[in-house]
Amino acid sequence: MKNTLIKKTLCILLLSALLTASAGAETVVTSFYPIQLLALNLLHGADGVELVNLAAPGTGCLHDYQLSTGDMKALARADVFLINGAGMESYLDHVMQNLPDLPIVDASAGVELLEDVSGEMEYNAHIWLDAGNAIRMAENLSAGLIEALPEQAELIAANRDALAARLAALDTELREGIAGLPRRDIVTFHEAFPYFARAYGLEVAAVVVLEPGDSLSPRQLAELVDTVTRLGNPPLFTEPQYESLAAETIAAETGAPIYELDPCVTGPSEDIPLTYYEDVMRRNLQVLQEALQ
Ligand SMILES: [Zn+2]
Repeated sequence: MKNTLIKKTLCILLLSALLTASAGAETVVTSFYPIQLLALNLLHGADGVELVNLAAPGTGCLHDYQLSTGDMKALARADVFLINGAGMESYLDHVMQNLPDLPIVDASAGVELLEDVSGEMEYNAHIWLDAGNAIRMAENLSAGLIEALPEQAELIAANRDALAARLAALDTELREGIAGLPRRDIVTFHEAFPYFARAYGLEVAAVVVLEPGDSLSPRQLAELVDTVTRLGNPPLFTEPQYESLAAETIAAETGAPIYELDPCVTGPSEDIPLTYYEDVMRRNLQVLQEALQ
């Protein structure tokens, strides 16, 4: 009799321990930094939700990124996986085959995609550099988050509205800040800025290296020097994530000035300010205002 009671009590204790462990232990996984920045805003103040980002902020874009064992473990315990889409996560088929039940939310749904000129992918995936696209991405991600975490629906919706308002203000600021600049043509370092250029009325006249890691042949370098000279030495924009040797060589040959634009794929991994994306974009605006005068 006493034994049964102890067993019953143990059973109840064990059950409640299990329930406590599972309640509030939702895990949201993001694929890389720009998506992490959006998710941080959307989940701000959500108790008991763990946000895990796969590619370390130093990775930059996901071009040729391989999932690690740790990444697959994080995905295996995820309640939802937030991705950029548009081909950025080239490992997606692998994830869907191995984790067929994992809900995946594609931030690029409904975004008007541009073709990829490097020929490596179907579309250019750097959609977040248009602040208008970022609003769409936040809406897509929030819809997927609300489906996966219905108990946080109100909070996520309020966060989405606040974020969308901030991004709309940023979009206007970029549009107005670039509209009156006398120069429109820019030469960029990797194929990250076509969406930005389309949104804010700039012309990407040439791309120095299409993707990080690609190296230029002497002939390609000579062609770029010719192009830059022909265009009247437009400013060259390198990126903090990638070496700028090719741009420096072109600058030395032509006299074109070098500036830095940040595609916001890297940043702090701890204590990330909620406004990090906006801060970076406003710095980019300042650089462009100086470079395109
Ligand atoms: Zn890229």
